[in-house]
Amino acid sequence: MGWWDHVQQAPKDPITSVTQAFLSDPTPFKLNLGVGAYRDDKGKPVTLECVRRATEKISDCEILESTKATTKSKFVQDCVKLACGNDSSVVREGRFAGVPALSGTGACRLFAEFQRRFYPDSQMFLPMPTWSNHHDIWRDSQVCTGTYRYYNPYSKGLRFQALVNDIKNAPDRSFFLFHPCAHNPTGVDPNYEQWKEISHIFKIKNHFPFFDMAYQGIASGDVERDATAIRIFLEDGHLLGCAQSFSKNMGLYEHRVGCVSIVSRDDKQATAIKSQLQRIVRAMYSSFPVHGPLLVSTILNDADLKALWEEEVKVMVDRLISMRVTLRQTLEELNSSSSWEHVTKQVGMFYFSGLSPEEVNQLQRDFHIYMTNDGRISMAGVTSSNVDYLANAIHEVTK
Ligand code: PLP
Repeated sequence: MGWWDHVQQAPKDPITSVTQAFLSDPTPFKLNLGVGAYRDDKGKPVTLECVRRATEKISDCEILESTKATTKSKFVQDCVKLACGNDSSVVREGRFAGVPALSGTGACRLFAEFQRRFYPDSQMFLPMPTWSNHHDIWRDSQVCTGTYRYYNPYSKGLRFQALVNDIKNAPDRSFFLFHPCAHNPTGVDPNYEQWKEISHIFKIKNHFPFFDMAYQGIASGDVERDATAIRIFLEDGHLLGCAQSFSKNMGLYEHRVGCVSIVSRDDKQATAIKSQLQRIVRAMYSSFPVHGPLLVSTILNDADLKALWEEEVKVMVDRLISMRVTLRQTLEELNSSSSWEHVTKQVGMFYFSGLSPEEVNQLQRDFHIYMTNDGRISMAGVTSSNVDYLANAIHEVTK
């Protein structure tokens, strides 16, 4: 056998393969509702004005080795403030350890690696369903995964009691991954009281929560409000882990800017954890590209730029919400027998339609509308000029 002869074609990725199929469709009128990155009402990717201004602001900045060290610790602290709150005791007391990561994916990967090293026999409980890459990330890090019930396909909402039971029935001191806001793919989040209850049970069970926050701001349009789940856990005195990404809320997808952080018992523990995270990074990619973190820190530390960012997040979210409202209205006007309430009840980037794989195939074949096989529709791809077409097509395949 020759070298590499045993290497076979890898299975298609359920998300990126949607874009590939879309691109190879020669039809001029086609819709890509697979991609989870923001688009404006013309269907174009957006560079936020706050990012443009921050880019100008740092254009003269010489990127030297010394820049890197300060940028790194500043960036991590800025990220932790954003997640935990500006005046959080976590920041005041230096009770956190973190490193810049290659966006949200890299942050999850680093945490999974850290988990394996220090809790080699542990598993990570993931919501069912979840972003498909979670399974791959923890599997590739050789950490077993379990699942907990999360979504009810009949109500298209949260399966709260089952979720609570699964948390209670997991072995004490288990790791759980949560999406703190804008759950991908379901668009269904626990409410305030439900997070309180989850946090309470975590205390009793001594579980460890890991929050994968890829959409801070994108659920409610308010970055502070979207951190509610994390703030509740902190108030209740939990230690926790957090992955953050600026792909969606700052439109920095291609810059790959993210952070992984761990809230620790005290500053001494934080120092030890940080040194271990740095050790993992050293062998994986040595250090991070500095430009993205510099951009993010520039925005978060300039009052005007931060206010502009918050406004721009609101504009993005308002557009997503208005497309949900129009999609629901249009479907209802078509007198379909189904209920479309969940289109506007769900939040964030995605509408988890409940369309079957056959209906998804039919939409692709007959209407050139592309989405993931589980019926997840990226609302970012819906615009005033295609929403009627989409509603009619959904009506045709579901009536
Ligand atoms: N986590 C969740 C839940 C996501 O939906 C995504 C992106 O789709 C990510 C993490 C990672 O995103 P990125 O690596 O682009 O920051």
